[in-house]
Amino acid sequence: MSKLARKVALITGGSRGIGAAIAKRLAADGASVAITYTKGADAAASVVKEIERAGGKAIAIQADAGDAGAVTAAVEKTVATFGGLDVLVNNAGTAVPKRFEETTLEELDRLIDINIRGVFVATQAALKHMKDGGRIISIGSCVGERVLTPGLVPYSATKGAVKMFTQGLSREVGSRGITVNNVQPGPIDTDLNPAAGDWATPQTAVTALGRYGHVDEVAALVAFVAGPESSYITGTNLTVDGGTNA
Ligand code: NDP
Repeated sequence: MSKLARKVALITGGSRGIGAAIAKRLAADGASVAITYTKGADAAASVVKEIERAGGKAIAIQADAGDAGAVTAAVEKTVATFGGLDVLVNNAGTAVPKRFEETTLEELDRLIDINIRGVFVATQAALKHMKDGGRIISIGSCVGERVLTPGLVPYSATKGAVKMFTQGLSREVGSRGITVNNVQPGPIDTDLNPAAGDWATPQTAVTALGRYGHVDEVAALVAFVAGPESSYITGTNLTVDGGTNA
């Protein structure tokens, strides 16, 4: 029996990178999957096709994490399509890798809107539908706990907020058997943080394993947290960072 059979999962920002890997992995484990995206309609459609070709169920919904109405509508559409919502993965996020003093107010607002406000709004909307035993999983970052390289000041502050959001919310929904956890990746090779990019050298240098991670290495941890075997894990920050924060 598949671990997530008859479960429904919504992954925000699931058309590329870590979110796409999570969507494919949860679908492979038996979940019906909804993903959101902003601009990449083709990329989102190809994730859906790949899941369907493998025998799974998936839909893609355009919803900017910074647009509260669109995020709420995405949750409603997921529930209307698949008949419920068991797993929310707050993955949509962005970074502005530059020195803090050079970061504009517009860039700061966008980071806060997507990385924090978007998580709040999606989670509120999801909790309205989530039955006992549900899972709220956010993709924070290892820099939400420790910052070892320059250029990530407001980004790491938003991920620190995700960490405390996770810990606080776990206390409110635990009586419903809903777990709330924060998966904190280290440097993972994606469009947002390419292993060949300018910022990669210092990030690789502070890992214990001496390399960037692969999106599937994050998806594997998310799949465990989404599944039945993680039922006693809540309010915690699970790091998958190649030893960056060791
Ligand atoms: P990518 O930029 O590679 O992919 C981002 C995905 O999210 C795309 O599917 C994109 O779709 C979607 N997306 C971007 N902005 C929005 C938005 N405003 N609303 C909805 N969807 C959006 O990022 P990663 O896969 O690298 O990152 C995913 C998460 O992991 C983020 O929260 C990030 O902070 C976190 N993380 C990443 C690390 C890394 O090293 N890569 C390390 C630690 C944490 P579209 O193109 O259509 O907008």
